[in-house]
Amino acid sequence: MGPTLSVVGAGAIGLSCALAAADRGWAVTILDAGTDRRAAHVAGGMLGCFGEGRPGEGDLLDVSVTSAARWPAFLERLGRPDVRTADDTLLVGASSTDLAEIDDQVSFVRARSADAAIAPRSGPALRSSEPMLARGCAGGYLVSGEGAVDNRRLLAALRSALVGAGAAFVDADVEDLDDVPGDRVLVAAGLHTPRLVPGVEVRGEKGEILRLRRTRWSVAPPSRVIRARWHGRPVYVVPREDGVVVGATQYEAVGSDDRAPQAGGVADLLADVGELLPGLRTYELSEVSAGIRPSSVDGLPMVRRVDDRVLVATGHGRNGIALSPWTADRVVELLA
Ligand SMILES: Cc1cc2nc3c(=O)[nH]c(=O)nc-3n(C[C@H](O)[C@H](O)[C@H](O)COP(=O)(O)OP(=O)(O)OC[C@H]3O[C@@H](n4cnc5c(N)ncnc54)[C@H](O)[C@@H]3O)c2cc1C
Repeated sequence: MGPTLSVVGAGAIGLSCALAAADRGWAVTILDAGTDRRAAHVAGGMLGCFGEGRPGEGDLLDVSVTSAARWPAFLERLGRPDVRTADDTLLVGASSTDLAEIDDQVSFVRARSADAAIAPRSGPALRSSEPMLARGCAGGYLVSGEGAVDNRRLLAALRSALVGAGAAFVDADVEDLDDVPGDRVLVAAGLHTPRLVPGVEVRGEKGEILRLRRTRWSVAPPSRVIRARWHGRPVYVVPREDGVVVGATQYEAVGSDDRAPQAGGVADLLADVGELLPGLRTYELSEVSAGIRPSSVDGLPMVRRVDDRVLVATGHGRNGIALSPWTADRVVELLA
């Protein structure tokens, strides 16, 4: 048997790192406290990179570009093509002010990453590629190759790949790392990491998110991710096999149990998406939820050794699904 690794946390980060370690001969055990505390369970699943770029976040963009390049091999390892739900993203705006903000974002991304596949599109061109888009869509960009995954299918696929690789799963709310067996311990407990590793600072950023299901009277969901600035507010729509995910608000969480969706956030999302893609009004509102993004102080993920035995991987904020392959690569390097 190879060296033993315990991973605390079965979110996107813990499972991705666990699988990469198992593939390199580590005997892996994953300990987890359940879906209630798991941001990866509610996430939209966008593999955001250029569409996620924000002026001032150049280092994060570089990491995102590296991770994006790793996704095809990552999905091939899982052997589940149905995990991917979109290949491209549209950035769209409703007004000239919205479009000016999107233009700033695109200028920043292009200055940092010269080969970014982003092409401008007029309102009519966008509507002919996604007929569900409202007539009020003034224009935007096509971001080729930047798609999305179904986050819940991703987590299930990671779990079954890990079982296939011989990993063990334990239901446990870990309170003390001294009680966790293993030559090495990776703490990937998201928002709760500081409880186990003092000195790691994680801020909670809450967000409401909705799931809409197509009915037999509805038009088909869009085939691309649609990220909009709609009269000053951001809203996105992520395709699923049977509908869409609509997200997401973002504000500081009051505490780690602050997961009840607020009426105001839900109302804003419904109002904006109903204007952006009017055809979604006939969809069924199948889930209203909220999650807390585990964010670092500087906006960059924290992937590092704590001591000879313990490593930590957290702080992925709004990008933990997208950055899973990059994080798994870093953890494997640290384990080596
Ligand atoms: C509304 C919303 C939308 C989002 N959309 C996207 C998106 O489109 N794309 C994207 O890339 N990211 C998105 N994110 C961010 C993404 O969900 C997170 O960055 C990611 O889930 C972080 O993964 P993680 O594994 O570090 O943490 P989590 O997914 O939170 O998992 C942590 C795990 O650790 C376990 N745990 C905690 N404490 C303990 C303990 N003491 N003992 C045992 N187990 C423990 C929990 O039970 C949980 O399973 C979104 C987040 C939110 C809230």
